Amino acid sequence: MCGICAYQGPETKAVEIVIEALKRLEYRGYDSWGIAYKPAHLDQNKPQEIEIYKEVGKIGDFKSSYDQFGKSSFAIGHSRWATHGGVTKRNAHPHISENKEIVLVHNGIFENYLNFKKYLEKKAHTFKTETDTEVIAHLIEEHYKTHSFEDSVKLAVKEIEGRYAILVINNKDNTMIAARKGSPLIIGVGKSKGEYFIASDIPAFLPYTNKVVYLDDNQMVIVENQKIRFFDNSTQQAIEKRIIEIDWDIESAEKGDFDHFMLKEIMEQKDTLSRSINQDPITINKVARAIENAHGTYLVGCGTAGKVCMVAEYLFAKIAHKHINFSFGSEFPYHQQFINNKTLLIAVSQSGETADTLEALEVAQKKGAKIISIVNVEGSTMARMSDIVIPIKAGPEKAVASTKATTSQLAILTMLAYACDGGVEKGKQLLIATAGQINDMLNPRYENHIRKLARKIRKIESMYIIGRGANFPMALEAAIKLQEVSYIHAEGFAGGELKHGPIALISEGTPVIALVPNDETTKEIISNATEIKARGGYIIGVSSENHPVFDYWIRVPDTGATSPIINIIPIQILAYQLAVLRKNNPDMPRNLAKSVTVK
Ligand code: GLU
Repeated sequence: MCGICAYQGPETKAVEIVIEALKRLEYRGYDSWGIAYKPAHLDQNKPQEIEIYKEVGKIGDFKSSYDQFGKSSFAIGHSRWATHGGVTKRNAHPHISENKEIVLVHNGIFENYLNFKKYLEKKAHTFKTETDTEVIAHLIEEHYKTHSFEDSVKLAVKEIEGRYAILVINNKDNTMIAARKGSPLIIGVGKSKGEYFIASDIPAFLPYTNKVVYLDDNQMVIVENQKIRFFDNSTQQAIEKRIIEIDWDIESAEKGDFDHFMLKEIMEQKDTLSRSINQDPITINKVARAIENAHGTYLVGCGTAGKVCMVAEYLFAKIAHKHINFSFGSEFPYHQQFINNKTLLIAVSQSGETADTLEALEVAQKKGAKIISIVNVEGSTMARMSDIVIPIKAGPEKAVASTKATTSQLAILTMLAYACDGGVEKGKQLLIATAGQINDMLNPRYENHIRKLARKIRKIESMYIIGRGANFPMALEAAIKLQEVSYIHAEGFAGGELKHGPIALISEGTPVIALVPNDETTKEIISNATEIKARGGYIIGVSSENHPVFDYWIRVPDTGATSPIINIIPIQILAYQLAVLRKNNPDMPRNLAKSVTVK
C-alpha cells in the first residue's frame, strides 16, 4: 500500500507540492508519513545536507506553514501503511543509508530482507529501524561502493523478492531512480523543461500535468540532468516509453460539499450506474463469447470485489444458466491444477492493483489462460495485463469502503450474464430502470429514515445480516461495509445456515438485517427472519414490501434481478451513519487502506 510522490523541477516549493500530493494519495496509507528534500540555499552537491521530516498520523492533519521548509526544487515523500515495524516516527519513510547518500521510499514488502540485513550487519551496517525498507537503502549503498549509482539500484532490484515500488535518490548528484514490480508507479511529465513527478497514482500530480508515462513491472525510470530514461530490468535493455495525455478531471476527485468521500460516493450512485452500463456492445458481446467458449471461467476478486464475484456466480446461473467458478484472489493459486490455455479468468477490482488478484492473474497468465478485467482505474496493472478490459467508469473512488465501484461492478456483471443469454439489451434496459429507481431512492428523507435506525443501534456490539441466493453474498458484503467503518462486529450468513450454528448467537435485541428481495427466496428468508425473531432478534427488513416480522423496515424498490445492487445501498448508508455517530472517520478506517497492494 502507501503513497509515493516525488518532484524535481524548476518550482521552489517542492515540499509543498509533495505534501499536497501525498494528501491526495492518503487513501493508500495513513499511519505515518515523511519527506526528504534539499533546501535550495544549500550546496546541492553536498550529500549530508538532505533534510528529512517525519510525522506519525495522517498527513491530512498537517496544517503547518510550508515556510519552515524554505525553498526547494527536489523532494520525495511517502505515506505509510506499516507492514514491518510499528507505527513510529523512526519507522516512517524516507529511510537513509549508512553514509546518508542514499535516500529511499518503498511500497510493498522486501520478503527476503532478513538475509540481507544479516549480511549487511556483518559489513558494519547499523540499522536504526525495524523496517524491511531501510535494508534496501543500505544494500544500494553497499553496491555503490564498487558500482555506479544506477548499477547499484539495478543490482539491488535483482535481489529484492516480493512486490514493491521503490523510489531512491542519490543525494550526491540529485539523480532519482524509481523501479516497480507489482506496485504502481506513474511518471508525470511537467509543463516546464526538466520538471518531473513520480507517484503511485495520478491524482498526486493532476493539478500540474495530465501527461503521464505508466511504468510497467520490472521497469525503471532514471531522472537525471533534467531528462528521463527508461530501462527494462528483465531484459537489461534501455527502452522507450510513450507519454499519454489523460482526460481526468480534478473536480471529481474532490469532496465538494459533502462531509466525507464515502457519503459523496454513495450519493454518486444516482449517476454511476448509467455511466457504467454505457459500454461498447461489441466488447460486451466479445466477453460473452469468451465465456461461452472457455472451458471453465473463474471470477476473481478480493474483499468487496470478491463478494461481487460471488453474486455473479448466482446471476450467471439464474440468468444465463451458466456455471461460473468463483475464487478470492488469494485462494486462486490453489486452484491452478484446473487452469489451462482454455480457461478464462475475469478479474474484478476497483484499483486494478490489488496484489492478491494480480497474483491470480500471473498464475493464469503462466498457464496460458485468457484474462479479462473489470476495473475502475483505466491504465492500471490489471487492465494492462488483460486481453479485454471493461472499464466500470465509476469515477475516482477515494473512501476506503467501496460503494459506487461495487454497484458498478455488479451492473457490468449483470449485463454480461444477460449477454450470455443473448439478451444484452434486456439487461441494459433493466439496469437503466434500476438506475432511475436509485435516483429516486437517494433523497434526504431516505437518509433520515436510516439515520433514525443508526441512532437506535449505535451502541450494539454485534449484528448479523442474512440473505439467500444472490443476496447471500450481499449479506457478506453488508457485513464488510459495517465492519470497515462502524467497527461493529458484523457477520453475514446464508439464511438457511443460521439454524446450523449461528442462531446460538441471537439473544434479546440482537439486530439482524434480512435482505428480502421479491423472488424465489422471499418466503424462505422471511421464515429465517421469523426463526430469529422467536429467539428475541430485532429484525431490520430491507424489502420492497413491509412484513409483520420486521421491527424496522427499510423500503427498497422491487427491481427484480438487480436486487443485490438495490439492497446494498441502504446498508452503505447505515454503515456511514453508524461510523459518524460512533465518531469514526468513514473515509479512513483504522488498519485499512484503499488499494491493497501487499499480499
Ligand atoms: N514494508 C514497508 C514498511 O513497513 C513499506 C510499507 C508500505 O507499503 O507503506 O515500512
